[in-house]
Amino acid sequence: MGSAVAYFLKELGFDGSVLVIERDGSYAQSSTALSASGIRQQFSSSLNVKISQFGAEFIKGATDRWSVDLHLRENGYLYLASTSDGAQVLRENQAMQVSAGADIALLEPAEIATKFPHLRLDDIQLGAHGQSNEGWFDGVGLMQGLRTGEYIQDEVVGLDLENGRVSGVKLASGRAVECGVFVNAAGPRAAVIAGMAGIDIPVEARKRTNFLFDCMEAPVGDLPLMIDPTGVWCRPEGKHFLTGCAPTDDPVVAFDDFEPRHDEFEEIIWPALAARSENFEAIKPIRFWSGHYAYNTLDQNAVIGPHPEIVNFLFANGFSGHGLQQSPAVGRALAEWICYGEYRSLDFSSLGYERIVTNTPLLERCVI
Ligand SMILES: Cc1cc2nc3c(=O)[nH]c(=O)nc-3n(C[C@H](O)[C@H](O)[C@H](O)COP(=O)(O)OP(=O)(O)OC[C@H]3O[C@@H](n4cnc5c(N)ncnc54)[C@H](O)[C@@H]3O)c2cc1C
Repeated sequence: MGSAVAYFLKELGFDGSVLVIERDGSYAQSSTALSASGIRQQFSSSLNVKISQFGAEFIKGATDRWSVDLHLRENGYLYLASTSDGAQVLRENQAMQVSAGADIALLEPAEIATKFPHLRLDDIQLGAHGQSNEGWFDGVGLMQGLRTGEYIQDEVVGLDLENGRVSGVKLASGRAVECGVFVNAAGPRAAVIAGMAGIDIPVEARKRTNFLFDCMEAPVGDLPLMIDPTGVWCRPEGKHFLTGCAPTDDPVVAFDDFEPRHDEFEEIIWPALAARSENFEAIKPIRFWSGHYAYNTLDQNAVIGPHPEIVNFLFANGFSGHGLQQSPAVGRALAEWICYGEYRSLDFSSLGYERIVTNTPLLERCVI
């Protein structure tokens, strides 16, 4: 997110100096490096749909812009519903998504069976499948493309406030940096940074474990990222498959706790996948890693834009598992705010911090 803001400031011709401060230049524990790098249009909020549409356009444009192919595989997400309530949610979401310009088709079980014959569908009432601009891509490649301008490896340890504004940034090295506008792009550590300005933000580090598995008899074809009604998701990754789930217990974790939750594979993921497809009965995890969601406990949506009182403190926080695909639109929005004092391309006001103050969730129903 920090890189995306810096990138779009340059694109917009910002004439001030821009400094990205990163505590770990290896990015080893950043959410970005540990992400599953998916992009979807299937959200329940139309703003999130539009944010991802720009994400897809920007990712596809990387070939012309940077001469780098970010390998967007537009195989779509396939949401499956096994109850009439679940099917109704898919119908409502799909109607909104289509009106926002997304290419999402509702599929009856017979149609799903024709497209994806490896799936067992006895319990399925309806599916929703993205026909374009949905799939997965090279997320680290996107970050590398966005990296621009001046970076320093150091840790923000304090903020100076003067006359209701952030005037300076204190770094662990002892260096102090003067500040015109400060953007909090600290991922799962967003609340620590906000706390330095006396601001509360309901963003917590929540652990998500991804598993790469080998399949004895892999299903073939252009398979989607399938989201089972149990919340288990699964998609092809080269000749293997990548999977994960929303854990049943989901505590806040320490910022340095990256121990994979191995139990999830045996207890949640394998039973769900084996029930969904004969092909997934004989599978073996071959790699696994954990990363942290910057989880917004209010409404699982991003918090974007200025603090209402400390107006030069900008948030780019709380992405709750869908931030990588949002980085182009968020970077552009915050750069517009900094350069013009307003959003010009997409209005991000409804994702502002005000809703935290008034406790008014903008609930995102499609969280994976
Ligand atoms: C397992 C997993 C799967 C995911 N899958 C997807 C997906 O399929 N699609 C999708 O769109 N999103 C996905 N996400 C979410 C996505 O990865 C994040 O929303 C996005 O990468 C967030 O970017 P960020 O820049 O906000 O945070 P980060 O990438 O975490 O970057 C924040 C940076 O701030 C630095 N920092 C923190 N504190 C300080 C400090 N005090 N001083 C200096 N630097 C500091 C950190 O070192 C870090 O590098 C997933 C996340 C995880 C963990």
